[in-house]
Amino acid sequence: MFCLLCDSEEELYDGLCKSCYIENFQALQHPEYTTFTVCSHCGATLKHDKWVQKGYYDDEIINDAIQKDLEVNSKLEDVEITTQITNNRGTVYECIIHVYGSLLGEDIERQYPIEVKVEKGVCPDCSKFYSGYYEAVIQLRADGRKLDESEIRDVDQFISDEIQRLCKTNKLAYITERIVLKEGIDYQVGSHNIAHKIVVNLQKHFGGVITQSRKIVGRDKSRSKDLYRSWISLRLASFHTEDFITYKDKVLKVESIGSHKFVAKNLETQKIEAIIWKEYDKVKKVATKSDIQTTTITNVTPREIQILDPDTYETLELEKTDEMNKLDIGGQVNIVKVNNKIYIDLEE
Ligand SMILES: [Zn+2]
Ligand SMILES: [Zn+2]
Repeated sequence: MFCLLCDSEEELYDGLCKSCYIENFQALQHPEYTTFTVCSHCGATLKHDKWVQKGYYDDEIINDAIQKDLEVNSKLEDVEITTQITNNRGTVYECIIHVYGSLLGEDIERQYPIEVKVEKGVCPDCSKFYSGYYEAVIQLRADGRKLDESEIRDVDQFISDEIQRLCKTNKLAYITERIVLKEGIDYQVGSHNIAHKIVVNLQKHFGGVITQSRKIVGRDKSRSKDLYRSWISLRLASFHTEDFITYKDKVLKVESIGSHKFVAKNLETQKIEAIIWKEYDKVKKVATKSDIQTTTITNVTPREIQILDPDTYETLELEKTDEMNKLDIGGQVNIVKVNNKIYIDLEE
């Protein structure tokens, strides 16, 4: 028997002598080109069926794309394959596959050229965004009144800042739509989680009461899970700072609004009280800054202060607290009428 190529009489492998066999050996089968997919909106890349945003670099992406379509000749032993990018033209990478291995006891090396093409795709998060998908609605409302223009402006800005911050780590941090309604503003948000975070922070900043509800809107059959949408409402207080409220038979002037509580001054004792938002339903707004009237002090005794009712000009006697010591006869004082009773609103 002779080698089919060189007539050598050595031991034959598939009809060839060792050197002809090695020379003509195909170390692997590969396609002419391979591809990988990039999201055309956000640049995320598909890695083993999962979209990744960061930390998956060109070399690794291209190496993975090449390796997935290779078929190594089983006769080759101790195989090692590396890939190298030699040129990049737009969406095409020209690459070389280096194959190292052992064949019939000899170390061999082979090089094969391959092209890797970038395919444009859309990742699920971007596709959600572009299809207007949303999981939650933030409902901005005010209790028993219209929202002020300035409140709306401030909340719009606040939400926009929050989205800017949160979208760095969550691609569903977006607002698909902002809807102006008679009763307030609705913001449609990509994810439940993001909507919830934003409302909690809004409440810390603007006060008010949060309520939530949710409704099943469909079913994810692939994960046998109900899909639901949530409505998270922030109801801002009926009052602003400097408005007057009643709470547990007391009349108070609101001094500041915070996340857990709001602070108000009792108009009879001049003492400061903190009221938690859970108690909000027991609070009633009874007067605003524009209801303040001015009147004259007609007499001051150690325990009482006498003023004129600005509407009837009748003389009224009110109990005097230490804070009223600086009031003098003939001076002017601010008062507010609540349920036909007059309260002195001492200036700070
Ligand atoms: Zn030969
Ligand atoms: Zn994307």
